[in-house]
Amino acid sequence: MNILRRLLSILAPPETPYAGMIVAAEAIRCVQCGICGYSCPMNIDVRFYARQGLLVTDTRCILCGNCVEKCPRGTLFFIPRPEGAAARPMPSPDRAVLYL
Ligand code: SF4
Ligand code: SF4
Repeated sequence: MNILRRLLSILAPPETPYAGMIVAAEAIRCVQCGICGYSCPMNIDVRFYARQGLLVTDTRCILCGNCVEKCPRGTLFFIPRPEGAAARPMPSPDRAVLYL
């Protein structure tokens, strides 16, 4: 089922209101339940990013918003994605930040 969802997402990506955004995480809120990753149609290990407070920079992300909606802890949120921004572990565990 996950493979089918992934194929459909690639062939006919859903329109998203989050164009130009990126998923960010407030690491301190993450309880590592994994619901975000289970909800991702692209099979991205969102928890990996969330627990470190990293931006979800996986190029497969189609900005569907499932992970943000499903997270029971409100860990994930969208922020504007600057051109050329790279993510790295944040210096404090409370908020993801962008470094140019
Ligand atoms: S669903 Fe939320 S709390 Fe659970 S692993 Fe993902 S980011 Fe963390
Ligand atoms: S926004 Fe959608 S595609 Fe991107 S990581 Fe979250 S669930 Fe996966």
